[in-house]
Amino acid sequence: MSNDIRVRFAPSPTGYLHVGGLRTALYNYLYARKVGGKFILRIEDTDQARYVEGAVENLLATMKLVGLQADEGPEKGGEFGPYYQSERTELYRKYAAELIAKGAAYYCFCSSEDLAQLREEQLKDGYTTGYDGRCRNISPEDAEKRVAAGEDYVIRLKTPDEGVITFYDMVREKVTFGWDMVDDQVLIKSDGFPTYHLANVVDDHLMQISHVIRGEEWLSSVPKHLYLYEQLGWKPPKMAHLPLLLNPDKSKLSKRQGDVAVEDYLNKGFLVETLLNFIALLGWHAKGDREIFSLAELEKEFSLKRVSKAGAVFDLEKLRWMNGHYLKTLPLEQVIEAAKPFFLEEFGELEPDVLSEFIDYSRPRAATMLEMPEECKTFRAEITYSEEDRAILQDATSQAMFGFWADELSLQSNWTTDAVNGLLKKTYEKFGVQGKKLYFPLRLALFGSPHGPELDKIIKLAGRERCIIRLKKVRSEK
Ligand code: GLU
Repeated sequence: MSNDIRVRFAPSPTGYLHVGGLRTALYNYLYARKVGGKFILRIEDTDQARYVEGAVENLLATMKLVGLQADEGPEKGGEFGPYYQSERTELYRKYAAELIAKGAAYYCFCSSEDLAQLREEQLKDGYTTGYDGRCRNISPEDAEKRVAAGEDYVIRLKTPDEGVITFYDMVREKVTFGWDMVDDQVLIKSDGFPTYHLANVVDDHLMQISHVIRGEEWLSSVPKHLYLYEQLGWKPPKMAHLPLLLNPDKSKLSKRQGDVAVEDYLNKGFLVETLLNFIALLGWHAKGDREIFSLAELEKEFSLKRVSKAGAVFDLEKLRWMNGHYLKTLPLEQVIEAAKPFFLEEFGELEPDVLSEFIDYSRPRAATMLEMPEECKTFRAEITYSEEDRAILQDATSQAMFGFWADELSLQSNWTTDAVNGLLKKTYEKFGVQGKKLYFPLRLALFGSPHGPELDKIIKLAGRERCIIRLKKVRSEK
């Protein structure tokens, strides 16, 4: 246990929380909980070109919905704030200036046209594209003069030209990159805002982040980051890069092949419990291959040592299976709370005991909460009978029985299980039918199928009045 362990989730607000983002958030959260450290939420919102109205609010709301509470962050506050990068731009400029003064960064005056032309030439000549470092040769004095004269500029990191960098990643283990693959990264853009790379390193240092746990797509940025740490004289955090999330065809998980927004899964009726459990398993597994974990159990079990290098397939069928499991096994009250909005959408306001019966009836029959009201529709929808059903319904005894039931149901409103059993007994005494001959036609008349729930459930869920109408209808259609 250590209070020096500080991890962070540092999303750039894009308008929605990507499932990969939720996995990063979850692993950071679990790691912090496991070792008694702190989980920090930092909003990386310095890219003005990608600003999306309402994105931050949406992100914070989704984080709240899934219950991953940060120990420090935009809403909670904390001693290392502000937790919005857009409110920290002075800091980034300060460190960029320090890097320039040290000769580790330089002003670049290339226009976007210059860069486009460079790229075109590189492509034509079969070279890898990237900045060729041409502004490195401008003397610092000249550069300062051009800046003072108001010329547009960016600040670039002067990365080594040759050799390799090797570092240790807690998931990927020993990783080596050649410096020839690393560009002179822009640190401050022409609008004065920092790029992700500078802001991320500065903040991870200032916020005393001990472990950087994030998606594998950032692995290739590590050389630049480590170089920045070195040049600024700071100790870098430990790194753990999580495996890619893949579609079943092993391509990178993308919007084109299905939903990637956490909100989409919530709107489709996946429980938060399912999402967290399912996402925890995308790249991590427990000893003994156990699969079902509550968040509290994950907090105890999780370890970075069991995070795998291999890409993790996002298997929708498994997600549906797991959701079905949770729908069946969570306490009914909890499922009612979660599923209520889906029923409201389909049926409008329902009596609490009808809602509870609907949910209890449909939860073992559906994989998502969106499918649950579907399962219940039969109770209330118009029934259409096949020729075969009609023949059964026209049986003389059954017809008389329907009349009897319509009258009986009209007499009182409270049809408890006992009351329905009493009526069944009376029906047997009066008509001499029992077993299949009794239940089959009644279920068919009241529910539209000879199979299905008990008659007392049907009466409750379809409603007494509707049952009377159905009985009268099958009599008049004789
Ligand atoms: N802002 C980056 C993102 O969008 C954070 C990456 C990191 O964790 O360093 O994912």
